[in-house]
Amino acid sequence: SMPTAEMQALDAAHHMHPFTHGADLGKKGARIITRADGVWLTDSEGHRILDGMAGLWCVNVGYGRQELVDAATRQMSELPFYNTFFQTSHLPAIKLAERLAQLAPGDLNHVFFAGSGSEANDTNLRMVRTYWELKGQPSKKAVISRWNAYHGSSVGSGSLGGMKGMHAQGGMPIPDIHHIDQPNWWAEGGDMSPEEFGLARARLLEEKILELGPENVAAFIAEPVQGAGGVIIPPETYWPEISRILKEYGILLIADEVICGFGRTGNWFGSQTMGIEPDIMTIAKGLSSGYLPIGGSIVSSEIAQVIGDAEFNHGYTYSGHPVAAAVALENLRILDEDGIVDAVRDRTGPYLQKKFKGLTEHPLVGEATIVGMMGSIALTPDKDSRAAFEAESGTVGYICRERCFANDLVMRHVGDRMIISPPLVISEAEIDTLIERAWTSLDECHAELKRQGLMKAARAA
Ligand code: PMP
Repeated sequence: SMPTAEMQALDAAHHMHPFTHGADLGKKGARIITRADGVWLTDSEGHRILDGMAGLWCVNVGYGRQELVDAATRQMSELPFYNTFFQTSHLPAIKLAERLAQLAPGDLNHVFFAGSGSEANDTNLRMVRTYWELKGQPSKKAVISRWNAYHGSSVGSGSLGGMKGMHAQGGMPIPDIHHIDQPNWWAEGGDMSPEEFGLARARLLEEKILELGPENVAAFIAEPVQGAGGVIIPPETYWPEISRILKEYGILLIADEVICGFGRTGNWFGSQTMGIEPDIMTIAKGLSSGYLPIGGSIVSSEIAQVIGDAEFNHGYTYSGHPVAAAVALENLRILDEDGIVDAVRDRTGPYLQKKFKGLTEHPLVGEATIVGMMGSIALTPDKDSRAAFEAESGTVGYICRERCFANDLVMRHVGDRMIISPPLVISEAEIDTLIERAWTSLDECHAELKRQGLMKAARAA
């Protein structure tokens, strides 16, 4: 096609990348991905890269699934697009909603489609507030979220998120959004046991509700396991206490399943793994394994009835897009019939967990936590004190990520935590390769940190 350097120069000149500093791109140039198969990416230089991030938590069934291509092609010829506004519908959206209602726990039986996770969370924000207005409690407007959470990039979903930098950029956040701290025991647990810390962090929710007044609080939004925030697996005490508090004060729970959904944690939904009963679940990414953009909200019968009896003035052109819906439906069939969710729970999942936890033998690695096939390691200059690096958070993570990428392994960094979430179809041999490359990259990172004088501890947790 085009020489790599030429593509990179053009890319830096005209293409604005999400979450990338222009200066960074200009300096190094993006790696151009040209093809992919299974868990393997190929770049424009012909390197085979092991995708330890499943695209961006999307490609649960792996790359190159011809069934998904066929489902798209069939639907594209039959009916490429029609809207679901104004009393029209089509079979792909109908069947997908029915299948999601079957898979979702409890009485989450109704689906409102969107084009992405961001859109779905905007819908959720409007939906919970509208629900309380229709129930005659219009003062219930506040939504509580968590610091360091990611729920999307639109103005509404970005306000719900709590990432430093983006949460308050460009006139955000919108009013009536509040945050509590995440249950990150490694970094913030101090002398508490994980169990004590889980309880303490859950009780921040109760304090926030009482500070705002329960009559003013509409909902709490959280991922069952915080993903983009660093794969923070909450201590066992956390969710039961959160559930108790939400029940006690009559506050809705929105579980953001954009990352946790569709097998990632060893069940269809992370809510099942964490034993929680949300009123609304946000879905996207793994719903179609990323082959086409689609998202949505799965809501309880109660909410659907209250909203459905009124006029909900809200919808996206691509809500339930027929081609995306057909691909999503086929993707759900593959996840089920190929036993992929079962493998994450019972076979390759436990294998990956065991190998991944072995990384704690490395001198740079503090904790290694993993559920299903989402895991993270905390990099530290001193494991015993759970110390952070003296350098600004993310400095070391960035170096480690670069070493991984140079070794043809995609891992992501959030601050100084490294994340893996490979396609769920990864084999045991590929897991071995992933761990070997991670180990080599950690060694190289360690040497680089020493060379740059960065092995300095800032503070103990
Ligand atoms: N919620 C979570 C937990 C996410 O990880 C993401 C995307 N990374 C979103 C919402 C937003 O989804 P989208 O990018 O499809 O808008």
